[in-house]
Amino acid sequence: MNHSARACDQVMARLEAAGYQAYQVGGCVRDRLLGKEPEDYDVTTDARPEQIQSLFPKTVATGIAHGTVTVLQDRVAVEVTTFRKETGYSDHRRPDQVIFVSHLNQDLARRDFTINAIAMDRRGNIFDPFGGRKDLTEKVIRTVGPATDRFAEDALRMVRALRFSAQLKFRLAESTLTALCQQKTLLQYLPVERITQEWEKWWKAEEPSRGLQWLWELDLFAHLPPFLNWPQPIPPPSIPLQRVDQVRDRRVRWSLLLYLCRVPSEEAKSYLAGFRLPSKEVRKIALIYQLALAERFPWTDSTAGKKKLLRMGLEPVQAALTTASKIGGWSRREEETSLAELCKWYQEMPVHSSRELAVNGRQLSKAVGRTPGPWTGRVLRSLTEAVALGEIPNRQDALIQEGCRLVQSDS
Ligand code: ATP
Ligand code: MG
Repeated sequence: MNHSARACDQVMARLEAAGYQAYQVGGCVRDRLLGKEPEDYDVTTDARPEQIQSLFPKTVATGIAHGTVTVLQDRVAVEVTTFRKETGYSDHRRPDQVIFVSHLNQDLARRDFTINAIAMDRRGNIFDPFGGRKDLTEKVIRTVGPATDRFAEDALRMVRALRFSAQLKFRLAESTLTALCQQKTLLQYLPVERITQEWEKWWKAEEPSRGLQWLWELDLFAHLPPFLNWPQPIPPPSIPLQRVDQVRDRRVRWSLLLYLCRVPSEEAKSYLAGFRLPSKEVRKIALIYQLALAERFPWTDSTAGKKKLLRMGLEPVQAALTTASKIGGWSRREEETSLAELCKWYQEMPVHSSRELAVNGRQLSKAVGRTPGPWTGRVLRSLTEAVALGEIPNRQDALIQEGCRLVQSDS
């Protein structure tokens, strides 16, 4: 048992000792049955939130109204949720009311998919009223109860179905697929932030294409925020979706999605902002996408290449090259050789930023006899480039001499 599993077990033991029921549930049971290490642990119990809080010294009232308390046990966060059922769902995104219930099976019945509705007690006994284990063996995503109703209650479950199919490499049950078709218009009610959270988990999957495929085949884009607001309809994929599976970097996956959706290069930022991604991510992904479209990779001119690497950094250029390689359908060998060449150029440079120079702005301005100003940055950048390209050595005397020359031509 690893550290997190042990912490979860201690939480369950404490609940049981106080006379409550406690079960692991959801993703952690699913992953364990699949032989994978769970990322985090969810516990479900008949103890009420106040009772949970009183049993443990360190708790956070994460979603107390919905019955969720985070217990901090040996620095591990274990989510403990009171058995509950949910009713209402008039807005297709969250229940109007949460009602605490006393039986495990009622709690399992509110869960989205059979494979997520399996519970396990401390002794390893499994409670699986909806056939989750069978679906795990058959590798199928199936809703608990009628899919049409479950998707109408919470439209995010449709996106989750695609995401889980990508993550677990499972297929969608026929009934799930039919309901997805019937209820797809409800996707429009979802807040884009919740969908983007799913995208981020989707990009961690081994085969994102398994889910992506349905976006096109069932024409979900027309209903899914933010795509539904885009001025042009999404055309059929211009490259095989499996190319997305061949990369792991999430920013490359985002930029391939932009490419598949024919986002105009100059508008990448505003389209990405529509997903409510953090602005730093918007900038980074847009840069990768724009470079991938604008640059002629692989670069052959090492001087020009090194200058660009210096200006933009190795990471975005590598990601852009990977994106370009997937768009262009390069062989693995071509891609690896070109990436290796970029790395070699970068490593060959004696310095990568002005901070690594053997002279700083103060020393330079003293030698030149001019007060520091915007010229300092300009000259330091030129010196960095000259050193990086091997034109002058990274020695103070040489840098000052070249610096003086640059200042004269600068003024
Ligand atoms: P992962 O952590 O790999 O994303 P997970 O199954 O743990 O997978 P969570 O989003 O963490 O997914 O949710 C935990 C559990 O809560 C799920 O396994 C499922 O039982 C239930 N659940 C989560 N979201 C919903 C939903 N929208 N509708 C119904 N049940 C849900
Ligand atoms: Mg989880």
